[in-house]
Amino acid sequence: MSAFDSPAASWYRDSVAVALGDFPPLEGEARADVCVIGGGVTGCSAALELAERGYSVVLLEAGEIGYGASGRSGGQILPGLGTDMATVEKALGRSAARDIWAMSREAVRLTAERVERHAIPCDLAWGYLHAAVKPRHVRELEAFRERMARDYDYPGLTMLHGEALRERVVTDAYPAALHERDAGHLHPLNYTLGLARAARDAGVAIHENSAATAIRRGQPARVDTARGRVTADFVVLGTNAFQAGLVPELSGRVMRAANYMIATEPLSPEQAARVLPRNDALSDANFVLDYYRLSGDRRLIYGGEVSYDGREPPGLETRMDAKIARLFPVLEGVRIEYRWGGDVAITLDRAPDFGRLGANLYYAQGYSGHGMALAGLAGRLMAEAIAGQSERFDAFAAMPHRRFPGGPWLRTPLLVLATHFYKLRDRL
Ligand SMILES: Cc1cc2nc3c(=O)[nH]c(=O)nc-3n(C[C@H](O)[C@H](O)[C@H](O)COP(=O)(O)OP(=O)(O)OC[C@H]3O[C@@H](n4cnc5c(N)ncnc54)[C@H](O)[C@@H]3O)c2cc1C
Repeated sequence: MSAFDSPAASWYRDSVAVALGDFPPLEGEARADVCVIGGGVTGCSAALELAERGYSVVLLEAGEIGYGASGRSGGQILPGLGTDMATVEKALGRSAARDIWAMSREAVRLTAERVERHAIPCDLAWGYLHAAVKPRHVRELEAFRERMARDYDYPGLTMLHGEALRERVVTDAYPAALHERDAGHLHPLNYTLGLARAARDAGVAIHENSAATAIRRGQPARVDTARGRVTADFVVLGTNAFQAGLVPELSGRVMRAANYMIATEPLSPEQAARVLPRNDALSDANFVLDYYRLSGDRRLIYGGEVSYDGREPPGLETRMDAKIARLFPVLEGVRIEYRWGGDVAITLDRAPDFGRLGANLYYAQGYSGHGMALAGLAGRLMAEAIAGQSERFDAFAAMPHRRFPGGPWLRTPLLVLATHFYKLRDRL
């Protein structure tokens, strides 16, 4: 077994600061206004928001809270979507795209508000760098900055070069970077557990080790688990990369992709100051991107690489270690203490996929590696829609989504091919 394989082990699991105790599996019959499926940020946020509005809620999680991407991610809290706003403009027009952008900024604020209101110990910090790796990226990032200021009234981006850049990331790897003030990072598992704690305290009945095995649609709907059943007026699906088979209509709208993470041993204050002196998070501008940040105890938390077929890419460990060594020679000899992987759901155009099936089944999925903040907002928008105010949810749901081509057997090979193409392009 490779170091990345252990299903629930990560530095995050070893640094849990939100004590929740176990939530017992569902046994027997339960009745609720809403059954939420999935205990990641989408599900916990929806459950919390619904309970705060007075709904009775049962939340079913197949493993444990934060078992999915939310408990394993890079922890970057970013406005925007997994795709450029130009994709949204093309599909829905400038005005709708501006509304969606504004809501993505609300997603970031919502994250910060919840961290504060529910006193979630997750080391939330502000500041983010989009780093150019090659000259073409510098031009693209500058064009992006101009467009966001002009068309989206977004003044939060500053282009940094030379010394100004080295004050934030101490490496020669990047010719320039955009600094974003209103984006940041946190400990994703503690944040997710904190949302679950707030949901529980608001009255949500949470059941871990309670995979939904079937949904019988109708009004009310019925959700089965191995040893129980929930009857509910509404169902919210927050299963992201893992929903395979539960709702056949959704198959092919997202693909599952694995991403990999590393945590070093804690750096000394001097070492940390020679990596990310201002404690920003960073992602590079490649299509298959690398991203990193410092944890609350000054570990370098580094993520990257991708696999679409469930198999760990050959040479993954060596390649990731070599990248860190190239970026920060000052870290020579620093031990890597943890390696883990996680699954994201991507859509064909990397815009998130929100929707409603029938009158009472809501879903939000396919954040395409950009869901730590947005999934929180998705939960809020689904709760709003269930409460009868669906305009904001519908604005996202209007985004058209094509299925991945190729049918169940060819989808993965086609995606692997496409990624090879983009990886090649990253090298040019
Ligand atoms: C390695 C990695 C790095 C990432 N880095 C970032 C980042 O830095 N910034 C960012 O914005 N995004 C990042 N992402 C993406 C982000 O984590 C996700 O977009 C977000 O967490 C999605 O939340 P979710 O609740 O929809 O899904 P998940 O967190 O995946 O939760 C889905 C949950 O549903 C449960 N489930 C599935 N099927 C069932 C069932 N049948 N019954 C009951 N429960 C079920 C699963 O067990 C799981 O806990 C990263 C993802 C990964 C994997």
